[in-house]
Amino acid sequence: MAETSYFYTIKVFEMADQIERIKCLIIGSGPAGYTAAIYAARADLNPVVYTGMEPGGQLTTTTEVDNFPGYPEGVDGPQMMVDLQKQAERFGTQVRIGMVTSVALSKEVGGIHKATIDNAKEVEAETVIIATGATAKYLGLPSEQRLRGGGVSACAVCDGFFYKGQDVAIVGGGDTAAEEATYLANICNKVTMLVRRDEMRASKAMQHRVNKTKNIDLRYNTEVDEVLGDQVVEGLRIVNNQTGAKEEIKISGLFVAIGHKPNTEVFKGQIDMDDTGYIVTQGKSTKTNLPGVFACGDVQDQEYRQAVTAAGTGCMAALDAERYLASVEDTAEVSLEG
Ligand code: NDP
Repeated sequence: MAETSYFYTIKVFEMADQIERIKCLIIGSGPAGYTAAIYAARADLNPVVYTGMEPGGQLTTTTEVDNFPGYPEGVDGPQMMVDLQKQAERFGTQVRIGMVTSVALSKEVGGIHKATIDNAKEVEAETVIIATGATAKYLGLPSEQRLRGGGVSACAVCDGFFYKGQDVAIVGGGDTAAEEATYLANICNKVTMLVRRDEMRASKAMQHRVNKTKNIDLRYNTEVDEVLGDQVVEGLRIVNNQTGAKEEIKISGLFVAIGHKPNTEVFKGQIDMDDTGYIVTQGKSTKTNLPGVFACGDVQDQEYRQAVTAAGTGCMAALDAERYLASVEDTAEVSLEG
């Protein structure tokens, strides 16, 4: 009996020790999360960033970033994320490796939100900034996975430039694929666009743009059978899914534009999301339907999805969190005075 209660006491002590109260919990470590951290730290919110499974986010899987303002020579994606982390830490942000595995978000103004890290540690937060991003979908072919970073990319705006004057292919028939195909057509010699059905999902206007672009070779009912090449992409074997006919085409870049999946699984059922799982934010703000919970970056934006737009909304989320905390404090003071 004594032994049981001893262990019980230890356990209770450990549990109590593990719960930590913080002002601003930032979930995710891409450009949105780190920018939120820079602003929150400078506003004395003592933010804690949990990095998630992929510290640095999607930019760590890209090579050169040429379109982030302020880097005239471009910057290596992983290096940029290290720089952003350092900048956030310079103002006192705590960056911790860890995955938020569950949350209990409060619906009350001034309520405390709870998050469990790696199924073990519990954190209580006055504000939560969700910056968990989105993950590009891939076809799932082994040859495609092997050549990611060697000519297979899920972002034409990020990587298209490296294929200037060359022949490339793009997979997908949605607005993203259509937009990226016309973007690539401007810089590449030829773009083969592979659409798996006999029609595109993209809006009529986007389809019109694709159709009138001379160097886009649009192939319906066509899928990728295999990506060819050892170290880098050298071609594609494509298959017509109606006739079964296979063909090899020479290309040096394959862009996969078949959609993204927002990383919102852990918040399901607690926060308002749209049909595709993106967190809904209110008007021009980063406010969610829950007081004190804000969302920024790709987790709430399926349209722009750029590092710079993610960083912009990260800044907004920190400002929204700061204002929210100030208004909660004001309300508490007024009710105390009353
Ligand atoms: P979508 O889900 O709209 O389209 C995905 C496309 O990829 C579809 O053509 C789909 O084919 C195809 N696809 C899916 N899986 C596979 C696969 N395994 N093999 C081959 N093809 C596949 O994603 P988007 O990223 O294009 O768009 C997401 C949202 O963002 C949309 O609501 C879109 O309107 C919006 N958007 C708006 C823009 C704008 O207004 N400027 C720009 C970009 C996006 P199928 O149709 O057969 O399912």
